[in-house]
Amino acid sequence: MPVRLIYCSRALREMSLQDIQNILRTARANNERLGICGMLSYQSSWFLQVLEGPRSEVNELFLDIADDPRHDAVTIIAYEYVDEALFSDWRMGYAADGGAVAQLLHEFGLERFEPLAMSPLQALRFLRELSSAQDLAA
Ligand code: FAD
Repeated sequence: MPVRLIYCSRALREMSLQDIQNILRTARANNERLGICGMLSYQSSWFLQVLEGPRSEVNELFLDIADDPRHDAVTIIAYEYVDEALFSDWRMGYAADGGAVAQLLHEFGLERFEPLAMSPLQALRFLRELSSAQDLAA
């Protein structure tokens, strides 16, 4: 049964578009091989990412990601067994701010993008809603 893991982390320096593209390039190549899909978002120095796929592959990849020197404060927000993947269209999509971020944060009662203050459901909803505005070219 597949699992869904959502975590957030803090970038150790401001990420450029090139930095994000490098992460996505590696992620898309590796995730294809591992049968993992998901979505990454980066706003205000924070990453929020969902990984979906076979349990052992997701767990191992998460440990590798958590060791990555580009970020710290890696914190699991949700981990659950799921009947089906919600992000199967993307080996690793990029959830860009298509204008929806401010509205969503307002609904969540947050003044800024603070993944640590989001409930698991809010984090999932954030990634789902922004995924519709993701930049496929990124
Ligand atoms: P390489 O990409 O060749 O990396 C080799 C080593 O160098 C790794 O230890 C890596 O952490 C480090 N490294 C690479 N680039 C840099 C850099 N610019 N600065 C500092 N160190 C660097 N990988 C996935 O496979 N799937 C994902 O979904 C995924 N999501 C990620 C999300 C975030 C927020 C971050 C920061 C990284 C993510 N990664 C992801 C990358 C992951 O952490 C590993 O770097 C990657 O899995 C290693 O791939 P590789 O074996 O092909 O080695």
